[in-house]
Amino acid sequence: MNECELLATCGFFQKYQSSLDMACRGFVKTYCRGEKMDECRRKEYRRQHGKSPHDDMLPTGQMMPREYQQSAR
Ligand code: SF4
Repeated sequence: MNECELLATCGFFQKYQSSLDMACRGFVKTYCRGEKMDECRRKEYRRQHGKSPHDDMLPTGQMMPREYQQSAR
């Protein structure tokens, strides 16, 4: 599989997929559509808690810095 199976339901992806910010693009390229999709901390959170993490939690498990957060659409 070359795309994460959660693309359609992942809050992070939905919110930041079209961001032009290089860091966001990097996360999408590396995790959501890349080799690290199985290491995504958002997935791990879902498994552990049975619900999705906050949209601003990054695939690394850190929170998106406030100045980069986009308001919900
Ligand atoms: S952030 Fe993680 S769970 Fe969400 S689409 Fe990307 S790889 Fe999948």
